[in-house]
Amino acid sequence: MNIILFGPPGAGKGTQAKLLQDKYAIPHLSTGDIFRTAIKNETPLGVKVKSILDSGQLVPDETVVDLVAEELKAPKYDNGFILDGFPRTVPQAEAFNEIAANQNKAVDAFVVLTVPEKELVSRILSRGQGRADDTEEKIKTRLEVYRSETEPVQNYYKAKGVEKEINGIGTVEEIFDRITSSLH
Ligand code: ADP
Repeated sequence: MNIILFGPPGAGKGTQAKLLQDKYAIPHLSTGDIFRTAIKNETPLGVKVKSILDSGQLVPDETVVDLVAEELKAPKYDNGFILDGFPRTVPQAEAFNEIAANQNKAVDAFVVLTVPEKELVSRILSRGQGRADDTEEKIKTRLEVYRSETEPVQNYYKAKGVEKEINGIGTVEEIFDRITSSLH
């Protein structure tokens, strides 16, 4: 099963992705996690993207698309994947469509976690992960980028008929149950 988890920063994608990974035994691929690890290890990729992540802006499409295309070739994704944080722009979605076709893969579900904006800000501020982009000002930037660049991706998958809208308000377990029910 190939799943895309979609939603604004703070919607709970990472939390739900880990639960889905355990339940279905398919790996979680988070572009944000890959970038943060690269930054921590000071790899060439990390050096390139550090100031972009710190600012709350998006890494260039080509960089992300190449990264995901390469990563998905690993055999561990043969039985499925949970994509979190990608695709994040319409050009990324279009490029991913080609990558998936070339690798004989298809998206089975595009799961959208819906959460009102003011709830998102307080969730991110209270989760206290110590991320450089978790300040009030950077969260504002990330939400603006989400609205302008990322939200349109939802229509792309709506048109493909694989979109599932999930109410992202409730306990972690309640939301997880909603997601798994929508996948049956
Ligand atoms: P969140 O959704 O909580 O903001 P992520 O971990 O998904 O966090 O992403 C953190 C940052 O990593 C983004 O603000 C952006 O700079 C970068 N990033 C992650 N995925 C992508 C992507 N697909 N395209 C461009 N930039 C990305």
